[in-house]
Amino acid sequence: MANAVDTFMAGVIAKNPEQKEFHQAVQEVAESLMPVLDKHPEYRKGKILDRIVEPERVIMFRVPWVDDQGEVQVNRGMRVEFNSAIGPYKGGLRFHPSVNLGIIKFLGFEQVFKNGLTTLPIGGGKGGSDFDPKGKSDMEVMRFCQSFMSELFRHIGADVDVPAGDIGVGGREIGFMYGQYKKLTRKFEGVLTGKGLNWGGSLIRPEATGYGQVYFAEEMLKTRGESLKGKRCVVSGSGNVAQFATEKVLDLGGVPLTFSDSNGFIIDEDGINREKLAFVMDLKNVKRGRIKEYIEKYPKASFQPTESGAKCNPLWEVNCDVALPSATQNEINVEDANNLVKKGCYCVSEGANMPTTPDGINVFLESKILYGPGKAANAGGVAVSGLEMSQNSMRLAWSREEVDTKLHDIMKSIHKACVETAEAYGTPGNYVNGANIAGFLKVADAMMDQGVV
Ligand code: NDP
Repeated sequence: MANAVDTFMAGVIAKNPEQKEFHQAVQEVAESLMPVLDKHPEYRKGKILDRIVEPERVIMFRVPWVDDQGEVQVNRGMRVEFNSAIGPYKGGLRFHPSVNLGIIKFLGFEQVFKNGLTTLPIGGGKGGSDFDPKGKSDMEVMRFCQSFMSELFRHIGADVDVPAGDIGVGGREIGFMYGQYKKLTRKFEGVLTGKGLNWGGSLIRPEATGYGQVYFAEEMLKTRGESLKGKRCVVSGSGNVAQFATEKVLDLGGVPLTFSDSNGFIIDEDGINREKLAFVMDLKNVKRGRIKEYIEKYPKASFQPTESGAKCNPLWEVNCDVALPSATQNEINVEDANNLVKKGCYCVSEGANMPTTPDGINVFLESKILYGPGKAANAGGVAVSGLEMSQNSMRLAWSREEVDTKLHDIMKSIHKACVETAEAYGTPGNYVNGANIAGFLKVADAMMDQGVV
């Protein structure tokens, strides 16, 4: 088995050199899928694995814009249209200086399987730019978004490719991009999700990823007859996903203790209550400040700065029951995973995409804790994006309760699919195999039906 994966990976690495995050994402899926390919030789004959790792299309483009000082700036934009076997390409746009093709391809690849799990008809895609919105004025962000959309608009459409937000892309950026799309195409259509409520957005879309992540944690805990009530929860990040994960932890009676950003993390042993969460939302979404400002407002909390080059992140050494990584990829390495388990954590539900390194994942699997990989646990965001598309097509808007109930049901069904599939393939309790295999089967069967395209 190891040999088949090694041989396959050697081909992927040779063809996509230097895309290390993409290799990491493919390796994990390939390892899960070998038993499936053994059981279903028709997938091997149809070269489904070889086809599924090759994006249907990669678009790369120049994004020139003018800053507030009148200087011309140039960024790179990209969109990877990965797989459309089960629906239009769907996946977020990330604006962060670290963005490169390997990162967008890993995200697009994961998205294919995640979207397969949601029960909705959406294919996989991802895009973004190395533009850094941090420290830019609203007008600079607007000029950048307009320039970005001036090229992207010709590649997307409500039935073709429907981008959403991700790191660095929230309601403000979606608004600027939607305005430019509409101006260029003269179409008011559901081409982006995460839109404002009075121009086609869905209730619960901003909340969906974090809420879904916590619903998934609750489902995992239920398998052990437990709930989130009274559980100490460690959250990383302080953006969209982290904020709404914290809100749902509070709804379900858990105790959120931390927030972080790239400069460090805060810990509040008294628990982060609703008033403190409202402060963080204002700090991050309106004032666009840094998380260390939390301790100026709440001096009983403490702040620990990020130490560059450190072997591990002290955030993951906080005593906790539940960890909700919600910042970025590879934020939990093998030392961090060991520290979490040592400090009593027995449930990890990933809001971020691929936040745990492969050897970190092995620590979680070997210690038999409840480990929900991002592909399954953070699928609530794209699921409600799918619901936003449905509402746009019908020209109707559902109530908050309706959308939240649908989200909750989808997270339960993803959880059930992971549990049942992991069991059917001989690895009960392994949500990694469960998610990879269940997502794959849906997409692979559609690819088989549609011939070699
Ligand atoms: P935001 O931009 O709203 O927030 C990102 C947060 O993570 C910020 O606190 C940011 O801190 C921190 N962060 C980002 N990069 C780094 C880094 N390199 N080191 C340390 N901290 C970092 O993004 P989202 O909350 O939307 O996304 C968070 C994660 O969730 C991502 O992995 C994303 O792919 C995933 N996700 C998001 C979905 C969504 O619906 N938004 C859907 C599914 C997954 P700082 O301000 O210092 O950069």
